[in-house]
Amino acid sequence: MPFTPYHAGPALFFAAALSPIVSFPVFLAASLLPDLEGLLWTLGFDAQQHGLLHSYFGALVIALLLGFVAFKYRSLFDRFELFQRKRPLRDYLFSAVAGAWLHVFIDSLVYADQNPFLPFKGNPLAGFATYEVAAVACVLFALAGLMLYLAEKQK
Ligand SMILES: [Zn+2]
Repeated sequence: MPFTPYHAGPALFFAAALSPIVSFPVFLAASLLPDLEGLLWTLGFDAQQHGLLHSYFGALVIALLLGFVAFKYRSLFDRFELFQRKRPLRDYLFSAVAGAWLHVFIDSLVYADQNPFLPFKGNPLAGFATYEVAAVACVLFALAGLMLYLAEKQK
């Protein structure tokens, strides 16, 4: 999707559901990373709406960067954790990659101009869902994710 908050819905759901094994804030932040190029495109920069960051390879690279940064500055992220524990670097990296790849997967169900398997061209999943169906699904995930988040916060 172009730069929209829709991805926060599924990310909220999966980050809350998997909070014992993923870093909640890192998963959530990483799920928004691929749309940096959509933001640049929206602002008029010479960027593709669904370019390298919307491929599993590009998302992997930027997610690993986020994972390392989040680990280095973990005290900033840890205050937003749902499941408090001392996490190894592996958890931050996994959380970031899972969050970013969730974004790539969701967008790949909609956009024909996306090449999720770069360097290979094409998107075999394009058209599986319309933008409207994906948007509604993201909102439903957001509601379910919010309920999970609140339930986890009360534990
Ligand atoms: Zn996107």
